[in-house]
Amino acid sequence: MSVNAAKEAFDPDFLRQKYAEERAIRLRPDGNQQYQEMKGEFSYFLEDPYIDEPIARDPLEDQVEVAIIGGGLGGLLAGARMREAGIEDIRMIEKGGDFGGTWYWNRYPGAACDIEAYTYLPLLEELGYMPPRKFCDAPEILDHCRRIAEHYRLYDNACLQTGVSEMIWDDDTHLWTIHTDRDDKIKARFVIMVNGPLNRPKLPGIPGISNFKGHTFHTSRWDYTYTGGNARGGLDGLKDKRVGIIGTGATAVQCVSYLGESAKQLYVFQRTPSGVDPRNDHDTDMAWAASLEPGWQKRRQKDFTAILTGRGGRRGEIDQLDQFDDAWVEMGKIYRRRMREAGKDVPKEKVLEIFEMSNFEKMENIRNRIDEIVKDKETAEALKPWYAFMCKRPCLDDRFLPTFNRDNVKLVDTKGQGVDSITETGVVVDGVEYEVDCLIFATGFEVGTDYTRRAGYNLIGVDGQSLEDKWKDGMRTLFGIHTRGFPNCFIVSNGQASFTANYPDGLDEAAKHIAYLVKHFEEHNITRCDADAQAEKDWSAAVVGTPAKGPQGGTGCTPGYYNLEGQHDPRARHNQPYGGMMGANSYFEKLEEFRDGDKMPGLELS
Ligand code: NDP
Repeated sequence: MSVNAAKEAFDPDFLRQKYAEERAIRLRPDGNQQYQEMKGEFSYFLEDPYIDEPIARDPLEDQVEVAIIGGGLGGLLAGARMREAGIEDIRMIEKGGDFGGTWYWNRYPGAACDIEAYTYLPLLEELGYMPPRKFCDAPEILDHCRRIAEHYRLYDNACLQTGVSEMIWDDDTHLWTIHTDRDDKIKARFVIMVNGPLNRPKLPGIPGISNFKGHTFHTSRWDYTYTGGNARGGLDGLKDKRVGIIGTGATAVQCVSYLGESAKQLYVFQRTPSGVDPRNDHDTDMAWAASLEPGWQKRRQKDFTAILTGRGGRRGEIDQLDQFDDAWVEMGKIYRRRMREAGKDVPKEKVLEIFEMSNFEKMENIRNRIDEIVKDKETAEALKPWYAFMCKRPCLDDRFLPTFNRDNVKLVDTKGQGVDSITETGVVVDGVEYEVDCLIFATGFEVGTDYTRRAGYNLIGVDGQSLEDKWKDGMRTLFGIHTRGFPNCFIVSNGQASFTANYPDGLDEAAKHIAYLVKHFEEHNITRCDADAQAEKDWSAAVVGTPAKGPQGGTGCTPGYYNLEGQHDPRARHNQPYGGMMGANSYFEKLEEFRDGDKMPGLELS
């Protein structure tokens, strides 16, 4: 132990060793292959339970200027920024029965956003809307999505309940043809692909999973006809049911308390605990809201992203932290306090040590809170996360931990190994079968699989090349937006682009950039835009050359989707964000730099 560490309320050496041991227990050779796709006998898991009336319409054969694939917040922002740029001929194409994306699908009880609404909900100033509370729940976010769609007239000409099946480029006419599962053949000059980062639910490959004879569904397709109630609770249908839920990630943390208060018996099957912080929710202070100066939301979003990417605030001022009062910035506040205590001119090695100690302190706070809330000592111990802050998605929830004090709720801790098997009647862990009537999979979404697989369709570009083939060894792009050989197609994802926990911030930057490009092309009669080969090579090389910084993806982290289940995949370096997980602000600056010039460097235009 170092001299300074001796003053700590925790033992850093113990924690380093414990984190490494817990990680080793969870590493498995099959990595991402442990999960299986929802296809074939499992395709029923993907059915849309939220459609009241299927839309009946004839196949379309027509043409639009801009097609936007995906009606989640990314697609809505793209549509909004297009409208603001004066582009009228837009068609949104969306698989779900309405706009909303993540928030259309994720309607499980307790679904809510863990990022404060003032930062997360986009276009608040444009729409003149102030959320009533610091955090908003899923129904409020879905309403906001519809509000955006209505405000910007994005329902006009939209194709809902429509899944794209393929896109084919015609280099003579400079048009894409979009094929859909409704036999549409829609031609589009420009296409924006906004498929979402976590859009394809996944199932674990647990032996016997297809044998289960009870009721079962994934959290992103919640079956309220079975459970009763709605996203705000009241699951009356479960009062005589034994329910099992597999997974304890951010989704399960939000819905477990609602299951616990309604089910006759609830078993929570845990492989790795989440770190759960207090939510600190409160009503919006309307006097504060009235005092905000125009442009406040963008400034706040930028401050939040800057803090999470280690810049300490928009203007590099660490006191930007104080406008936020939740767990996302607590670690930054601990770090600031420790830096202050260390005095002036702290050497670099010491800064790294202070950072590590801040992280230990933050996680100790999380672990100590469990002891304060959960009465049964064994359960409390099992719920403690032994990894660094941000190795897994932080959770902000006040209801999850107290649920384990209920008599009808049992935590079944699999000690990092996962569930052994599933039988016709229940779930087996450590030789014990837990019989359940209903089994819910809170097992997350595909990350790290091929882009086109997650999108659900392939693209055929110049000379018949497919995107699946071009990216078989990882992404190759300019700005993460263009990929050579697929002209007029703009991609919005975090691969080779930006990542920020406040996801809509990155989506909006991309939307503004693409709207700028399309407007410019329309004004200058440009009908074909492709990435220049060298520019693409340079951009991709810059992405690959970035060392994986920050805990996410770090080799020391416990396995999870943030680090491809702890496995090395050579494609991962190509698919990471520009500047790694800490590069969002540098990425936004690159886009701004591009727009500030008038030469469109790196693009071949005709
Ligand atoms: P996750 O991938 O985070 O969690 C999946 C869970 O399933 C993990 O606990 C995992 O354990 C567990 N699991 C997988 N296989 C097995 C197995 N064989 N046996 C037992 N357990 C198993 O998915 P979520 O849906 O919870 O969250 C996904 C993401 O969605 C979040 O990270 C977040 O980005 C987003 N989200 C955002 C919210 C918001 O507030 N904005 C709210 C909810 C979700 P292990 O950890 O060991 O892999």
